[in-house]
Formats: sequence, structure tokens, C-alpha cells
Amino acid sequence: MVNKSAIYSVPGLAEAISTQTQKTLKTLQKLVEFESPSDDKAAVNRCVEAVSEHVTHLGARIRRHRQKVFGDILELRFGRANKTQKPIMLLGHLDTVWPLGTLKKMPYRIADGRVWGPGTLDMKAGVAMALSAIEHLQKENLLNRQIIFLLNSDEEVGSTASRPITEKLARESAAVFVLEPAQGIPGAYKTARKGIGNYTVKVAGIAAHSGVDFERGHSAVHELAHQIGIIQSFTELDRGITVNVGTIQGGTRSNVVAAEATAEVDVRIARAKDATRIEKRFKSLRPRDRSCVLHIEGGLNRPPMERTKGTVALYRQAATLAAQLGFELAEAATGGGSDGNFTSALGIPTLDGMGAVGEGAHATHESVLLDDLAPRTALLAAMLASV
Ligand SMILES: [Zn+2]
Repeated sequence: MVNKSAIYSVPGLAEAISTQTQKTLKTLQKLVEFESPSDDKAAVNRCVEAVSEHVTHLGARIRRHRQKVFGDILELRFGRANKTQKPIMLLGHLDTVWPLGTLKKMPYRIADGRVWGPGTLDMKAGVAMALSAIEHLQKENLLNRQIIFLLNSDEEVGSTASRPITEKLARESAAVFVLEPAQGIPGAYKTARKGIGNYTVKVAGIAAHSGVDFERGHSAVHELAHQIGIIQSFTELDRGITVNVGTIQGGTRSNVVAAEATAEVDVRIARAKDATRIEKRFKSLRPRDRSCVLHIEGGLNRPPMERTKGTVALYRQAATLAAQLGFELAEAATGGGSDGNFTSALGIPTLDGMGAVGEGAHATHESVLLDDLAPRTALLAAMLASV
């Protein structure tokens, strides 16, 4: 897949990009200081506007997909469309899990070799790195195919609004680079992610006074307890299937035989074909107490990102470029999902974890390693210039 027309030297690229680090940090600070919780449309849109303004001077063609519930989705195109080469898609999100006002307790700051603040690692640093990489490639005329950069606004809440747009643009593209953080430290690229499903299991029983009418009651709590044992046994670690009953609710008082009980279940699968296996198992659940009724809802909402040949080829290319940049790039699989799950499931080679290296996504110690910022930006740029 190496494009021979691209004339650049990897060490040269690294050096040029490292001189831009202050600029990348400035962009990152701006993005972090526009707080953008997924559920605050106006706040996310202020961050969207900041990015739009930033890319205007980079000559991007901007399309803003207006949204009703969430912030707008930003589609940016850099460079010309090319008949012989499909675009490369960069995939990111501007929303964070952090509510407005978090900056007061967790301000953007640089200390102890890290950049701290809400949304730094997940994933505003990845966005800032991509913008720097693109700026450099454009300046040096190294962009030999079009880049579609999609920034959505609902990734942290399931990507329901953005998924169709993500999928449409991925279908146009030769490969997808996901700007989620790298895995752990020193920061592996991700070539596989599990698929995610959610199920709700409700039991309707028959209420009764636990003292006066005990025999007339049919306890939903007791029935659910029985079902939980069965559901947990759906886990098959050797196949990469985990099933977790994460919450239970039920009953009203200790002296009432419970009429209702509910469990919420999280399912992870490594292989797409296991979705039907799990579905069948949930459908096969029957109440042990025939006077209780089971209602089961749910299914898979993110397909797994499987370790396909196309994805592995991208990883190998990245590892080779990383070696030229002077570091070793590991490969990882994770149980967590991203928007890369959607694009990979369409058969588009998808490489994930191409954003920042750091720790503490969704946690108060969220931070990005400063020393890795330039090398990872250089790697991203080298990948964009060479695939
Ligand atoms: Zn993220």
C-alpha cells in the first residue's frame, strides 16, 4: 500500500512536527477549554465552531450536519478527491463525559510531563494531533489523496445519531484511522475491539403479603435471582464472550412478595457471529416459577471490530514507520468499543488508538504524556502520507 509518489523522509517529518508542538498544545488547550459534554448541545456546538474556525485557514471544505438532540457533526475534507485513490477517513469525536464546570476542579494544565484536563486524552489531544498533521502535510504538499475528517458529538452516549454518517463516509474511504487514545502506556494501536450488547431482563411476579398470604405470592426477586445465575453462565472466556449482570432492581418492601424485578446486562463479544449465539441464549430463558413472566429486550448495539487482514496490514505499516521514528509500536485488543467498530464491521480496514498516549480517560487523573505528543503526531502524518 506504500505510495511511491510521496516524497518525504520520516525523520524529517518528525523533526518538522516536533517544532510545531507548542501550536498543537495551543489547539488542545482551546478544545479543552470549550467544555463539551455529550448532553449539552449548545456547549458541544461552541467546540464545533472553534474547530470550524481553526480549519478554515487550512482550506478545509466544511459540512456541518445539523443535529436535533446532540451537537452538530462536522465533516471536513482536505485535498482533492482523486479518481484512482479513495480518501482516508479520520474519525474522532468532540463530546466528552465531563459536565460543564469541570474545568474549575480539573483545569487545563501542564505539569509533571503531562497535559491534564477533562477530555484531553479522550480525545481532544487526538483531534489536535490530527489537525497538526494535516496542516504540516498540506504545507509540504505531501497530501496525495483526500482526507475526510469526521468529528461527531455523541460518541460517549452510543453514537446513535452519528452512526449513519460515519458508515456512509467510511464506505467512501480506503481506510479509517480512529483518533481514540492508544492502549495504556507505552501506547499500543488497537486492531480489535469487542462488540457490545445490552439486555434488560424484567420479571413480573405476583405480589402478596409476606405474612398473611405468603403462598399466594410469586416472587419476581426470587425468579430473577435464579435467572441471573443462568445469564452469568453465558460467559465463555475462551471465545471472548463476557456477560455481566451489572444492575438489579426489584421489590418494594421486605414484607411484600415482590411483583417486579429487573436486571441490566452488558454483553461483549469478540466475533460477530457470536451475536446470534447470545441472542438465542437470551431467547431460551424460561421462568422456573411458571406464575412469573419474563420480558427480555435488547441486542447487540456495536458490532465487534475484528482483527481483519486489512487492519493488520495497516498496523504493520504503522509499526514500520514507528521504528523509523525511533520507537516500538505494539498492537492491542480491547473489550471497549469505539466508532471504529462500525467502520470495521463494514469491511473497511480500520486502525484504532491513533490518538494520544496517556491515562485516566473518564477519570479525574485524565492526562496525556507530553513527550509522546510529537512522535505520535509524526506517525499519524507519516501514515496519512504513505497509505
Ligand atoms: Zn473517545
